[in-house]
Amino acid sequence: MSRVSGVQVRKRGMRWVLAAALTLYGCGPQQQDQRLDFYAFGTEISVTLYSVTAKQTLLATEQLQSHYADVGHNWYPWRRGELHAINTAMRSGSRVDVSPRLADIIRRAAEFELISGGRFNAGLGRLTELWGLHEISATPSALPDNADIAAILADRPGAVRIDWDQNRAGTRSDFVMLDLGGIAKGAILEDSVTILRELGITDAIINIGGDLTVLGNVRGRPARIGIRSPSNRSPIASLSIDDGETVVTSGIYERFVEIDGRRYAHILNPATGYPVDHSVSATIVHVDPVLADAAATALIVGGADEFDALTQAFGIDVALLIDSSGDVRLTQSMRERLHWIE
Ligand code: ADP
Ligand code: MG
Repeated sequence: MSRVSGVQVRKRGMRWVLAAALTLYGCGPQQQDQRLDFYAFGTEISVTLYSVTAKQTLLATEQLQSHYADVGHNWYPWRRGELHAINTAMRSGSRVDVSPRLADIIRRAAEFELISGGRFNAGLGRLTELWGLHEISATPSALPDNADIAAILADRPGAVRIDWDQNRAGTRSDFVMLDLGGIAKGAILEDSVTILRELGITDAIINIGGDLTVLGNVRGRPARIGIRSPSNRSPIASLSIDDGETVVTSGIYERFVEIDGRRYAHILNPATGYPVDHSVSATIVHVDPVLADAAATALIVGGADEFDALTQAFGIDVALLIDSSGDVRLTQSMRERLHWIE
């Protein structure tokens, strides 16, 4: 996970994008297609805007960039921003004020924990830290101690263990540490849509590290996205995405830690405290990006055996799961919408 150096390089890229948009400003009222590239919270983001004015491009660039910088600082437990402050206060037994947007996301995370029977659990930061999944943690030189894992699990940490007094959060659990990584990209997609819609932008694709939301269409046609093979990354199928839909893929092949020459996925099974190895990837299409993100993570944890129960529990029609033996589980609607590439 060589993330730190990447951040430095790409930050310059963000400034370049802003400069490009500035140059276009003043070109007159004609509309153009524009692609904006950002790098934030360890992730490449590309936003394609269709038929926009130079002014819309400029404002979208500024507002998205500022939002991505803000959430990169405040929504990840290893940065000294708001989530870190919340975790620190809760750990010392205090109640803490939470900003409305983060409070909303944490409450939704708790809701998804209940819906998924605990497969999705955003309160396991102590475990993700133990496995070296936090951006600042060094890769562990050995597997975590089973006693440490057991001590955390015995306390049953979870976002559901947070109790709220309006927007003030507290917990009686000694081991709750919020790690919103399984839901953050969905929430950032949701916020990006709000920003673009408020600027009057009706047609766009927002792609955050492969999770994407489509607004409107692409020059009069529905957007088509490709699904790649988890093993060799070649395109295996395509899918058209309607206005307002989000496609989220959770996979265990892109982010992992390597301990003693073995790869461990960044998605943990909350029941065992160990990384998942029975699923390879889960793809979901849904109008709610936050739900789609949480559900994709839950499907990876639940695996093929729980595919039907979890898609029903989340109310998801369009989903696909590939397990580690290469078997593919599909909902009927996904089967109907997918175009397999020969
Ligand atoms: P990606 O970030 O690759 O899109 P996910 O949305 O599945 O993948 O999020 C994975 C992240 O979610 C992990 O890096 C970790 O921060 C957190 N996480 C790990 N296991 C779980 C889990 N069982 N439930 C909720 N969040 C999890
Ligand atoms: Mg997720």
